Amino acid sequence: MTKFDQLMEMYGEISDIGHASAVLGWDQHVYMPPKGAEARGQQLATLAAISHERFTGDCMGGLLEEVLAGQDGLTEDQRLAVKELKYRRDRAVKLPESLVREMTEAEARAYGIWVEARQAQDFQEFAPQLSVLLKLARQAADCYGYEGTPWDALADDYERGMTAARITEYFAPLRDATVQLLAAIAEKPQVSTGFLRGSWDVDAQREFGLRIARDIGYDLAAGRLDTTAHPFCTNFSRNDVRITTRYDEQKALEAVFGIIHEAGHALYEQGFRAEDERTPLCHTPSLGVHESQSRFWEVRVGRSRAFWKHYLPIMRQYFPGKLEGVSEEAMYRAANAVERGLIRVEGDEVCYNLHIIIRFELEVAMLDGSLPVDQIPEEWNRRYKEYLGVDVPNDAVGCLQDVHWSHGSFGYFPSYTFGNIYGAMVVEKMDGEIGGLSGQVAEGRFAPALQWLRQNIHRAGARWEPLELMRRVTGQEVTAEPLIKYLRAKYSEIYGL
Ligand code: ZN
Repeated sequence: MTKFDQLMEMYGEISDIGHASAVLGWDQHVYMPPKGAEARGQQLATLAAISHERFTGDCMGGLLEEVLAGQDGLTEDQRLAVKELKYRRDRAVKLPESLVREMTEAEARAYGIWVEARQAQDFQEFAPQLSVLLKLARQAADCYGYEGTPWDALADDYERGMTAARITEYFAPLRDATVQLLAAIAEKPQVSTGFLRGSWDVDAQREFGLRIARDIGYDLAAGRLDTTAHPFCTNFSRNDVRITTRYDEQKALEAVFGIIHEAGHALYEQGFRAEDERTPLCHTPSLGVHESQSRFWEVRVGRSRAFWKHYLPIMRQYFPGKLEGVSEEAMYRAANAVERGLIRVEGDEVCYNLHIIIRFELEVAMLDGSLPVDQIPEEWNRRYKEYLGVDVPNDAVGCLQDVHWSHGSFGYFPSYTFGNIYGAMVVEKMDGEIGGLSGQVAEGRFAPALQWLRQNIHRAGARWEPLELMRRVTGQEVTAEPLIKYLRAKYSEIYGL
């Protein structure tokens, strides 16, 4: 066995522990009875500790150094696997164990306090604990090191290579264009969505959603669909990629789009290379790239006019007697109704990025200290009024709505918008190369698009950082222009702007 093979075997075992933890986590959300929570928490913490010890231990460190010293004999893929492993290990080693423990304890406390503060609709109850989390996050940023602002060091966990300054260059034009677009939409007659409410059989929602997931290529012999409060996708190997969704009997399309979204994540993970399994390359390079895959299937395919041309007659078969007088055009417009609201997870395609941009702007200021914690609600509410034109009645539907900060996750939010930015760049490139996406979608032919994504993005795994991956796939530097162009064209047409 070569030193490289030994290193990969050692990593493979860590990857096994990670996947075993994922099984426990999946069960925790899908099947576990409430009383199992405490023991499950311990089991997961034990596995995390074993994995962390092995990953950061001298044994792996020594072997890694030996492999790096003899790098010349490695193939390109082997070299990339070692580079990826080194990056992730260096980052894990930089945080002292005492700080990790302090963060874990503070996060556990913060979650409970956040739940109570949200119930009380009072941010100031949560503020002292958020200050503690921010202090620890700044310490972590100092350990990682950064050139610009502390936020940059933390964001590397989610969108490697991005900095707040760079992100502002993408987000500022997107914000200005979106605010303008929303103001113009508000002046126009609103789209009718009433026919999507009422009573929609939940089993039929599930069957219809699964039918679409299968049609777009989700392999159910290597996956399954379950029900949870918060939808997610998880994998235990590329041959076992599971998704979950939630159902609302009152809403015809929420679960269906939820299933398409998670199936998009699953298609990506089923598309990693078999030979990358149990290596550091069997990953996405960033959450934004992952999100670009789910958003592609949910929005660019699922919320397109072509999609409803194909699926409206099929949907009628799943819901007999429903949708009889509804045209493809009405369905398309209803699936893309724009409504300025307060809640991120309910945001439509136009508003969603503004929810993210607000969080990003506040986070950067919170971490560099220019925004004192007790002023967060004021700044939050001011931006919601300015960007989205809505008044925030209380903190529960304002700055306390997301769980992320109580988990100590700072730097996560922009990945959602990067999903849309990368996605728009990718579709521009793909469209010409596969001979027109919408024509194929209208015929229910999804294989060419999936093949293209497999070839260009899925099979790449973690070989390149997001900026480099986009450069290789599209031949362009990352830019929000394709997204802005797409949003303007689509919504000008729907709303007659
Ligand atoms: Zn997603």
